Amino acid sequence: MQNLISKFFKDEEGQVIVILAVAFTVLLGFVGLAVDTGVLYLEHNRLVRAADAAALAGAQELPANPARAEEMAKEYVGRNGINPEQLSIDISGDEKTITVSVDKNVNLVFAKVFGYDSREVSTAVSARVAPVKSLRGAVPFSIKEQVFNYGDPYVLKEGASGPGSDGARWCGWFGALDFTGGGGGAREYEDMIVQGYSGEISIGDIIDIEPGNMAGPTADGVMERIESCNHNPSCTWNNHAPDCPRVIYVPIVEEYSGTGGNRRVQVVGFAAFFLEGVDNHHGNNGDVLGRFIFETVSAETDDSIDGYGLQSVKLLE
Ligand SMILES: [Zn+2]
Repeated sequence: MQNLISKFFKDEEGQVIVILAVAFTVLLGFVGLAVDTGVLYLEHNRLVRAADAAALAGAQELPANPARAEEMAKEYVGRNGINPEQLSIDISGDEKTITVSVDKNVNLVFAKVFGYDSREVSTAVSARVAPVKSLRGAVPFSIKEQVFNYGDPYVLKEGASGPGSDGARWCGWFGALDFTGGGGGAREYEDMIVQGYSGEISIGDIIDIEPGNMAGPTADGVMERIESCNHNPSCTWNNHAPDCPRVIYVPIVEEYSGTGGNRRVQVVGFAAFFLEGVDNHHGNNGDVLGRFIFETVSAETDDSIDGYGLQSVKLLE
């Protein structure tokens, strides 16, 4: 009996050890699985961030320059520490959507015990450009609807003897806009040149014209805006910082109603220009010159319109 009892306890000890060993292995397995899952999760997040950045950066070059879009996407995944060989880039037929796919084999730590050395994590992100529909920060100049050529200079507001006095623009109007209506005055107008209009303007909006020439406030506002570019080297129309104050957003307008000082115009689109200065400025003369450029801003878009080169990028879900 004594023997039996001691045998029983010895067995029990043995069983406990076996149970503990099994439990420990299972526990280790779970911990290992959790670690590997965590590694895969972090790696996947890293890929998504890199692909987002690459798609957004690439899309900024679309649709004008698909080759450059691809280069930019590669550069951005590289900056996020991802080998370009793990990357594939696709640009849609209309050259407005870029899809960045990244696949990466991640080495597993604990799952190796069970024969799983690595697992592939992957992500695909698409970004699409579309023309701007509504915008904040427009300057109170305007231009007629036309085909714009990249890098060409355009008159955005003219003086007393500007090119429009022979009928190129609308007779009796110098091209300035009064966004807030009711004749805001010279100070408000000049501020809007320097800062841009804080309100939102949308395609279809009807806007009062600024009936006066405003030659002085125009020249002062344009000079102040140009001088506020502190970028080094100085910005030029084809090589400027993304946030350069010399990049301005101008409403494209068509005649809507009224004549002379009571004229109203309708916004049909927006274009970006690089502000060059005031040409022939003396007395009441002086034409505001800007070079037409393609720009990407953060704004509301409309995929159903053609637009005038001012666009916004959206990530597609
Ligand atoms: Zn600048």
